[in-house]
Amino acid sequence: MRIGVIGAGQLGLMLGESAKSLQLECLFVDPGDRPPAASIGDCRRAAFDDSDALAELAASCDVITYEFENVPVDALAAIDSVPVYPPLEALSAAQDRLSEKQLFETLSIPLPGYFAVDSRSDLDEAIDKLGLPIVLKTRRFGYDGKGQAVIRDDTDRDEAWDKLGGTPLIAEAFVPFDFEVSVIATRSQSGDVVVYPLTHNTHADGILDTSIAPLDNPQLETLAGDYAHRLLDRLNYVGTVALELFVCGEQLLANEFAPRVHNSGHWTIEGCRCSQFENHMRAVAGLPLGQPECKGYSGMQNLIGSIPDPVRSLDDGHFHDYGKSERPGRKVGHVTVVAPTAGQRDRAVAEVSRIVTQWTSRTVT
Ligand code: AMP
Repeated sequence: MRIGVIGAGQLGLMLGESAKSLQLECLFVDPGDRPPAASIGDCRRAAFDDSDALAELAASCDVITYEFENVPVDALAAIDSVPVYPPLEALSAAQDRLSEKQLFETLSIPLPGYFAVDSRSDLDEAIDKLGLPIVLKTRRFGYDGKGQAVIRDDTDRDEAWDKLGGTPLIAEAFVPFDFEVSVIATRSQSGDVVVYPLTHNTHADGILDTSIAPLDNPQLETLAGDYAHRLLDRLNYVGTVALELFVCGEQLLANEFAPRVHNSGHWTIEGCRCSQFENHMRAVAGLPLGQPECKGYSGMQNLIGSIPDPVRSLDDGHFHDYGKSERPGRKVGHVTVVAPTAGQRDRAVAEVSRIVTQWTSRTVT
């Protein structure tokens, strides 16, 4: 079976590696010059909205999937010869923070207060309704904390508007969360759902820094699993999804979801019986899903901007090199540790983080 993958970044690379282990072939389309997944499968260089390239891909494949959520929905909707998974309704909702929040509301998934902002007077009204602080975000094309501004007091208001105004925005109540988690889950074509253990995430400069799992909080685990189920079933979803949530005491508030495999699930490659990547491929290929059980206590450290030499020869760590050139703020690799106890895992992750911090100079939030 041949699977067409739109996007050939590191997520495509890891999808391609899983596909290989399942004896599935991947063909990629990506606008980049020698993107990471070109090392694992045939990759045609074309824009994501190049309808000829997408039609050609569809003609050579049995099913199409994507590893990037900003693929134009219209370009994918034009493909009618083979199925496209995850369904375009999921892609479309995830591309617009307003539709995404409305979807959470219809599913009774709790979320921060929000207000659509299309004008300066909307912003003033949002602040009146939500109070300060708020987070002002572009509705579309935001990622890794980009396209956002926090308005803490009245003096920030003009600055935030100058930075972001002129494009559709959304204002969100600022959530004083305890910490952030994500739940990753996969749904098969027959409607079976597997949910991965809840992952605790930290960010640095708006980019995912570490992911630690399992969280070992059965109550939050059950709640997150329930929300993931609601989302997947409502969208008649096929593939892997990631739902990012804020933890506030015993409550979870939905931040956003990604209709694709996710950076906070990289640890599942070595840390689970069947990874998020393999399960995504299984789902889109119509195969039964594998089990998401943990093999131990896992932790993942992202490598941003550069790869510290010492991580290439770690005794206790699985190093992944995406083969990308080094550039500030760019995800170039990651390291996963899997340990028999949470304590050993925490020490191993701390050691990798120490190496990374020494190598670069960043502030972990
Ligand atoms: P996002 O692009 O929406 O995932 O936001 C990036 C990061 O900004 C999140 O992981 C949070 O750390 C922070 N953030 C986003 N929205 C809020 C919010 N409403 N309240 C507090 N922090 C937020």
